[in-house]
Amino acid sequence: MVQGILPNGLKYFVRKNQHPSDVVELALGIKVGAIVEKYEESGVAHLIEHLSISKQYKMVVEAGKCHNGLTGKDRTVFYLTASKQTLEEAMQVLASYIKFEISPKDLRREMGVVIQELHYWKSNVKLRREHEIAKVMFEGSEYASHNPGGLEHILKTLSVERINNFFKEWYHPNQMAVVATGDLDEMDVVGLVKDHFAAIPILDPVPTIPNFEIPFHNNVRFHCFVDSEIKKDEVWVTFKLDRNCDYKSKILRSIFVEALIWRCRRLSFRVDSNDMSFSQVFDDFSVPVDLLYLKAKFKGKQHIQGLTTILTELGRIRLHGINENETDQIKTVWLTRSTSIKGQVDKSTKFRDMLLKKFFKNEALQEDDNAYRKCVEEYLPCITATELSTFAEKLKTSCSCSIIATSRGHLPVLDLRNAVDCVNCLEEAGNIVPWVEEDTPCATIVSTLPKPGTITQNKFFDAAGVHELHLSNGMIISYKQIDSEVDQTTYRGFAYGGLSEVPEPQYYSCKLSFPLGSKIGLFGHKPRVFKSLVRERDASVGIVHDIYERMFFGECGSLVDLETSMQMVYQLFSSNKTCSREEFEEELETLLNTNARDRNMEKAVKAILCDFLYGNSFCREAKCEDIRAIDLKVACEYLNRCFKDPSAFHVLIVSNLEYEVALPLILQYLGGIERPSEPVFHYDPKMLKEVPVQFPSALRRDIFQVPLKGDCCRVDVIFPFTSKIESQVKDSYFLKCATGLLNSIFFNCLRHEQGKVYKLDVFQSYSRQKPSSTEDVRGEIIVMFACFPSDYDLLINLVVDEFVRLQNEGFTDEEVQCICQCQQKDDKENTFKTIWWLQFLSRYYQSFPTIDLDAAFLMEVASRHEGYADKSSMNSAIRRMFHLPCNSNYVVHILEPEEDSAEDSEAEAEAEAEAD
Ligand SMILES: [Zn+2]
Repeated sequence: MVQGILPNGLKYFVRKNQHPSDVVELALGIKVGAIVEKYEESGVAHLIEHLSISKQYKMVVEAGKCHNGLTGKDRTVFYLTASKQTLEEAMQVLASYIKFEISPKDLRREMGVVIQELHYWKSNVKLRREHEIAKVMFEGSEYASHNPGGLEHILKTLSVERINNFFKEWYHPNQMAVVATGDLDEMDVVGLVKDHFAAIPILDPVPTIPNFEIPFHNNVRFHCFVDSEIKKDEVWVTFKLDRNCDYKSKILRSIFVEALIWRCRRLSFRVDSNDMSFSQVFDDFSVPVDLLYLKAKFKGKQHIQGLTTILTELGRIRLHGINENETDQIKTVWLTRSTSIKGQVDKSTKFRDMLLKKFFKNEALQEDDNAYRKCVEEYLPCITATELSTFAEKLKTSCSCSIIATSRGHLPVLDLRNAVDCVNCLEEAGNIVPWVEEDTPCATIVSTLPKPGTITQNKFFDAAGVHELHLSNGMIISYKQIDSEVDQTTYRGFAYGGLSEVPEPQYYSCKLSFPLGSKIGLFGHKPRVFKSLVRERDASVGIVHDIYERMFFGECGSLVDLETSMQMVYQLFSSNKTCSREEFEEELETLLNTNARDRNMEKAVKAILCDFLYGNSFCREAKCEDIRAIDLKVACEYLNRCFKDPSAFHVLIVSNLEYEVALPLILQYLGGIERPSEPVFHYDPKMLKEVPVQFPSALRRDIFQVPLKGDCCRVDVIFPFTSKIESQVKDSYFLKCATGLLNSIFFNCLRHEQGKVYKLDVFQSYSRQKPSSTEDVRGEIIVMFACFPSDYDLLINLVVDEFVRLQNEGFTDEEVQCICQCQQKDDKENTFKTIWWLQFLSRYYQSFPTIDLDAAFLMEVASRHEGYADKSSMNSAIRRMFHLPCNSNYVVHILEPEEDSAEDSEAEAEAEAEAD
């Protein structure tokens, strides 16, 4: 790594790494954020970040680079991605961010966006929670307030002069660093930094940023965050820890916390009735002290039990310590879990963030990247049980502890306080008994090893490097080994036939059998038992059952994990899933509760979209009365039938393990699944029952009222498209490019020209059609944005007009070129990686191929060289695939805040404005 300081105080850090090739990640870090704002400047730092970027927007778009920025309490960062060719230009953009001088026109344009963003944040429950937690933990410090968004009524009063002055006062080169990582020449980059940044003048006197500290405290703090949008209740036990600690102390504390949480989890496994999970997070970056969050998450009001469990374990360790045996176990678990020391593929963004982190934390930069890893190797074996146990002393409730409960309903703080007093009394009196490791019977996932299957047909595709096996139980396996430094196997098994095949009256019993199933236990064990069986494994299996398809998919680490993972699939097929009447009633209740309470925006959007696409059929989202009508017997039967017959499934496996190494496990467990004497839920894909999917033929605009916080609407403008079966491959590539292009065109229009939209996204969705090799493919392009209710009419018209204009006039050369470059880069990075292979293989097998796999693969490779979409094909596609003109057929969904909640927030804003 090359680093240095320019005479004006600006630092630079340049680090070369080869992967991915021809990508350079740039960042400009500035140690200025919302914390230096005076009350009457609230929000100005965030506004400056926006103004800097929006002024350069045109320039950046033309250079084809992605850019982004963030404003925190004590920092501002600008990001840019460049290639070797665009590096100089990118550096120029980066430097222009800090030649800041704005006009009233700039301000008018961006103010609307920033205020819209504030409202958008307000509508996010996690951000609301974050602000409240900061207030409690950082009480007595400037960090408790100064939220980067600022205050709306102050923002609106900011003048151009004030903003320009704020910039001149704080944004000085001695507070800045340029970071460049990636495929670059170090000395070239240093030269560019000097060319573009050395001329920024030093001010006299040099401004210094005050040192805002966060004080430690002795009295435990309590807070209840009550919010109706919280999904699951939680209790957080948080501590502030000293930032100045070496790697050894960091390793020690991380292992200690692992041990603590491990015990809490063990305790929760023992109690069958509660559904409580424990986790831990260290934050050693965002503020000047390190933060530890110990969390318990549960359903129902179990705050006191969660809190007591964590505190009692801390007390128990202080009284009795952790024993040697446990210490050894934990060290192993910690090592397998600790991602920072696992072999990871080099990534320029990773190094960029690491260097930024060091800059903001004022850390020594001499140490090489491997210092931490080396320290782990040397120190880990030497850690003793006694040493580990001593860390508990630092986690007393008198050591800067804050206890925060999050709850959907009222919760008295006094209850939390009493629970803490109670545990502390027990500890003082020595009344906590030592830890007893329960003699849990040595359960295994699979009770008796199945008889391994054999291979009946075996084919190797040379060009693609794929083994295709037919197993004796009828299952088909396609195995692809890839080069990867990461130990990973990813797989996906699919079978045709799904919910469209069930009789209409049984639809919800079948559809909802899986949410029920995940509670009954899909792998032959009750979820709690199962969790404890796989707790030290890096393996997961999930399932999807759709209208036309059933699928299981999994991801796992090393070979041992693969065995666990394969065992899970075996159990999925082989175990009998049943459920007692009582369990069923209980789960039904949970399902009803979640359904009633999940009225958040995404849920609502999904339900609306589904309702309108499947409006003519029975495939709608469940309502409460549908849930109440679930038939237990039907649900269990369906659950058992879906994943039963191995001969209905084709499994695609992509792994870095050699075929010969993985094969025995595949034969043992996948091949070991017994084939039923009669086919079960085994369908010919061509004979599937079709569910009508209908896009409205007339224009349609629906307004839905949902309980939203903040004066913020969500709008979806939906344009249907059709892709001819014969041009499907080309069309899908075109759509990928078009989605990106439309995104940047609409974003530019609604955000930069109109200054009205903070969030905008364009994405494509394919209607869930019956798998077919002869029918045209239908889908939709969805333009989604958030705005003020008073603006949506105007903005919807703009989107539609712009789309019509594109159909008439076409994209320009520059637009097409720019998006193709991005796409090309993206392809280069992602082709032939795990996900690419899974997608390629799924696409191949599910399109009922008439050519063999090698031929398909070679065609795919060739198309890469053939070049990318050109202007004329893009322009003809946008006319061919979409309704012409598109303003004659589209649908708009508008989600707006419920009448009363909107009034509430207006009244609130007024009160706020009056208060000063
Ligand atoms: Zn922003």
